[in-house]
Amino acid sequence: MKYVDTHCHINSYQYDEDRLAVLKEIEKKMDFVVNIGCDLESSKIGIDYSKEYSNIYATVGVHPTDIGDEFSDELYRNLLELGKDEKVVAIGEIGLDYHWMTKSKELQKYWFRKQMSLAKELNKSVVIHTREATADTLEILKEFPEVTGILHCYPGSYKSALEVIDNYYFGIGGVLTFKNSKKMVEVVKKLPLSRLVIETDSPYLTPEPFRGKRNIPEYVEYVVRKIAEIKEISQDEVLKVTTENAKKIYKISK
Ligand SMILES: [Zn+2]
Repeated sequence: MKYVDTHCHINSYQYDEDRLAVLKEIEKKMDFVVNIGCDLESSKIGIDYSKEYSNIYATVGVHPTDIGDEFSDELYRNLLELGKDEKVVAIGEIGLDYHWMTKSKELQKYWFRKQMSLAKELNKSVVIHTREATADTLEILKEFPEVTGILHCYPGSYKSALEVIDNYYFGIGGVLTFKNSKKMVEVVKKLPLSRLVIETDSPYLTPEPFRGKRNIPEYVEYVVRKIAEIKEISQDEVLKVTTENAKKIYKISK
């Protein structure tokens, strides 16, 4: 069985030297991957990949550290048009980042709500980025009970997860394999496999044993292995269930 990567950024400059080779490897080795947009440009590039490669899907959205001072009607229309594409499987990544704080909390919340409305209008899932902002993020998610999605690289507690577990899946990546990931191991142990999806966030957050090097989608294997170990079940079971979860939330029927 081949692997799925629900979250990667192949448009990153870190693939400038050998992007074609990386894309070819994805085409050959992966079940499917989702290239996640961070702004208008990377969203468009993701759609380009999805046209070229049948097993690559895309999302469109503006990341909280990439937002501008004004969310214009024109931007909304642009995102809406891109979002209608059949290979766009979600709006994202969107959310709140109180670690880097490139823009004020209020402005971040405004852009987040706008893009949640966009997902609602398009009837598409969302991919959520949240850093040091769990409470505010969950509050906004609850304002949109008809929207479902993935909390990517989920940093919160098990207790917080329960607040949105009916509508959301939790993206688990390379951080789980790090030595200091005790809290996350506990969260993964408690969350049901039926709510987990696997991701790399390539080129970032490379799992052990490659930590420190550039990440690539096929390294999801190490995350699957770690979840199997934590939950004391087979890797096949982890792969099977998390693949079904990813297909369900992204409405992929291949
Ligand atoms: Zn990401």
